[in-house]
Amino acid sequence: QPTANPSRARAEIDLAALRANVRTLRAKAPDAAFMAVVKADGYGHGAVPCARAAVEAGATWIGTATPEEALALRAGAGLPADVRIMCWLWTPGGPWREAVEADLDVSVSGMWALREVVEGARLAGRAARVQLKADTGLGRNGCQPGDWPELVAEALRAEAEGLVRVTGLWSHFACADEPGHPSITAQLSRFREMVAYAEQQGVRPEVRHIANSPATLTLPETHFNLVRPGIAMYGISPSPELGSAADLGLRPVMTLAASLALVKHVPGGHGVSYGHHYTTPGETTLGLVPLGYADGVPRHASGTGPVLVGGKWRTVAGRIAMDQFVVDLGGDEPGEGAEAVLFGPGDRGEPTAEDWAQAAGTIGYEIVTRIGARVPRVYV
Ligand code: PLP
Repeated sequence: QPTANPSRARAEIDLAALRANVRTLRAKAPDAAFMAVVKADGYGHGAVPCARAAVEAGATWIGTATPEEALALRAGAGLPADVRIMCWLWTPGGPWREAVEADLDVSVSGMWALREVVEGARLAGRAARVQLKADTGLGRNGCQPGDWPELVAEALRAEAEGLVRVTGLWSHFACADEPGHPSITAQLSRFREMVAYAEQQGVRPEVRHIANSPATLTLPETHFNLVRPGIAMYGISPSPELGSAADLGLRPVMTLAASLALVKHVPGGHGVSYGHHYTTPGETTLGLVPLGYADGVPRHASGTGPVLVGGKWRTVAGRIAMDQFVVDLGGDEPGEGAEAVLFGPGDRGEPTAEDWAQAAGTIGYEIVTRIGARVPRVYV
């Protein structure tokens, strides 16, 4: 990594806001344990500080996608040993033995994974904590209902041999962020059936879970005894249909800001940036923002992305380049070094990540997770 230079650009991470969001979410699911999802480097906010802050606010589980993410947290986050860490995106030949040795809870969606985790447990000389994942309708990872009896039977056989402990039964929603979508009740009843079947066969899971952020916020019947939110913890609404972060009582955790690298006068009719997709309508001042698509500023927001400079919203003028873009300051002269805020909580009048999602035709998740490694995270 090059030396961090927060005077160019910085992503300020407000861990007090993250803790407050965890408390808000826990209050929505008071009888459920809380798994803080910190995959993709804590949705771009930094997995280690976010995992620690979530645990301080009452999370007892941490969730990641890859085993590598989970192993790194177990080794380097200084979390209490009784904090459970679960990971769910495995491929053949993955680090099963290391996962067993690190006391991870591993998700198993099919027979191949069960065979590999059992082998990992043999090598580690101890039982693996396995959570069986059901595909209740998402059509992504997870075991199909028709294959469930075989998976359950094989897991119970491995449990009887002392090589596996089935700690959880779980699934994931397709449309929990679309209120009233018929797939929600369909997935929920299939989940109940698949859990009931496994329990009838003798599985005794510690946790049953299916609720992501939108389900945690709006569907109490989906909470079971553990909820598994990601995006809401970072203070971003899962979808405009559910309202803004503020409507949901959440506070955005990340502020993305930079210092203007150049402010200059140009005449009217001056083309700006590659392709000249913007032309100054008259004599004006331009401000150069030293952030680009290599830093995760979406190129799709060229001509639409909002930026607060000198107390006013400006719009990206012309194309966002790899490392920089331009805003038309309309004759204002804030000077080099003036702060340009792309997004933040909004209470200083700045745009939010949700505004950038709208400007780029994407979702808030993508805005924050793509903020690049070149942007130093500053914890406040
Ligand atoms: N559980 C799983 C399996 C996920 O993949 C994710 C993220 O996509 C989450 C939970 C958290 O979802 P959200 O960020 O919508 O709360």
